[in-house]
Amino acid sequence: MLIQRGGLKVVAGLGISGVAAVNFLHEQGYRVAVTDSRPTPPGYDQIPSEVQTSFGQLDQELLLQAEEIVISPGLDPKLAEIQAAIAKGIPVVSEIQILRRATDKPIMAITGSNAKSTVTTLIGLMAKDADIKVAVGGNLGRPALDLTKDDPELYILELSSFQLETTSNLAADVAVILNLSEDHLDRHGDMMGYHTAKHRIFQGVKKVVHNRDDSLTRPLVPDVTPMQSFGLNAPDMNQYGILKEDDGTIWLARGRERLLKSTDMYMQGTHNIANALACLALGEAIGLALESMLNTLKTFKGLEHRCEFVKELNGVRYYNDSKGTNIGATLAAIEGLGAAIAPQQGKVAIILGGQGKGQDFRALRNALSQYTKLAVLIGEDRTVIEKAIAGTTTIIQADSLKEAVELGQQHTQVHDVVLLSPACASFDMFKGYSERGHQFVECVNTLA
Ligand code: ADP
Repeated sequence: MLIQRGGLKVVAGLGISGVAAVNFLHEQGYRVAVTDSRPTPPGYDQIPSEVQTSFGQLDQELLLQAEEIVISPGLDPKLAEIQAAIAKGIPVVSEIQILRRATDKPIMAITGSNAKSTVTTLIGLMAKDADIKVAVGGNLGRPALDLTKDDPELYILELSSFQLETTSNLAADVAVILNLSEDHLDRHGDMMGYHTAKHRIFQGVKKVVHNRDDSLTRPLVPDVTPMQSFGLNAPDMNQYGILKEDDGTIWLARGRERLLKSTDMYMQGTHNIANALACLALGEAIGLALESMLNTLKTFKGLEHRCEFVKELNGVRYYNDSKGTNIGATLAAIEGLGAAIAPQQGKVAIILGGQGKGQDFRALRNALSQYTKLAVLIGEDRTVIEKAIAGTTTIIQADSLKEAVELGQQHTQVHDVVLLSPACASFDMFKGYSERGHQFVECVNTLA
C-alpha cells in the first residue's frame, strides 16, 4: 500500500500497545498524535516530545484530521468519536495491521477464548530451542510493534478478538483459533460478533491449524489451503491427537505414531494435552523438527495463574487458576482436576465470581454437580451466578478472597481440591487477575 508520510497518524488510547505504536510510527517518519480519555494515561512519559498529545477526552477534532487512526485494543470501535471518524471514511486499524504492513517476515497468529498465552509461550520456546530467531508477543508480553526491533526471522503473535476486529488481510503463514467459548460478549454484542472477529485471523492465511473438538474453530478457507487438526481423540493419518492404552496411559500421537506420554509433561489437565498438541501442529507448519519440540514439551512447566499448583495442606491440594476469567477456562479446570481426584472420591471446592461480562453461568451446572462439593461466590456478580447455578452444589457467598479460602479449607478433606477459577474478570476487587492470583496464594500460605 502507498503511504503518504505527510499524513497524520492518530493513535487512540495509550497504554502499552499505544506507546509502542506511537514510537514505531514516529521512528518511521510519520507525523503522529495521540489522544486518550484519561488525563494522564499510562505511558504518557514514554513517548517523544514532538508527538502531539490530547488527553482528558478522546479528541474528536484531532481524530477527524487523521489520515489513519491506530486504535488500541482497549478502546471499543463503537465509541461515538471513532464512529464519527469511520463515517468520514478514515481507516481505523489495529497496531497488528501496522506491523503487517511494515514487515514481510512470516507471522504465526494465535487466538482463542482460552489457552492463547500458554500456547504462544510454549511454541515460542519450541522455536527458540530449534534455533529460530523468533519474536514473541502481541496480546501477551511485549506489544507487537516493539518486536520489530529484534528484526526476527519469525513473529509469533498472540492476538485478542479486540486486535483482530480492526485487522484485515493478516496473511499469516500459519494461524489457529484454539477454541471458542463465550467471552467479551459485553463488547462484541453476541457470540456471532465474537466469532466473526476471531475468524478474521484467517484472512489470506497460508496454513491452518484447527481444533477438531470445536467445530467453531474451523475456518472457511479455500480447499487448497493446507489444514492440520489437533484433538483429544485418536488422530487420523498426519493429524495430532491422543492414543489411550488399557492401563490408562495417554500418548500424544501423530496418526498412529506414539510421541510422548502425557505423564512426561509437567503441565496438568487434559486441556494442557490439547495445548501441547496444538503446539506440535503449529511447529510442524513452520518446519520445526519433532524431536526438538518433544524435548521442549518435557521441560515446560506451564504458566503462573493457569491451574498452578500452590501447595498441599492436610491432604488437600490448592490450585490457583486466577487466569480462568471465563466459563470455558473454568470448565476445563473443574473437569481436568475433578476427573483426576474422582477415583479417590475427592471433590472440588471452587471459588467463583467477580465481573461476569454477560456470560450465561448455567453452562457450569453439569460440571459443578459432577465434581464439586462447594462453590464459594465472591465479587460483583455473585448473585447473578448464584441464581444460575442454584441446586448444583452447596453455595456460600463470601465478602473477601480470604474468607473464601478459609471456607474452602473448612469444607474439604483428604483428596479434595480447593480451586480458585473465578470464570470472571477481577477488576471489581483487584487490579487484575495477577493480583487476584497472588492474593490467593498468600491466603493459602497463611492457612494452618
Ligand atoms: P489466554 O491467554 O487465552 O487467556 P491462558 O493460557 O492464559 O490463555 O489460559 C487462560 C485460562 O484458560 C487458564 O485458566 C487456563 O487454565 C485455561 N486454559 C488453558 N488451556 C485451555 C484449553 N485448552 N481449554 C480451556 N481452558 C484452557
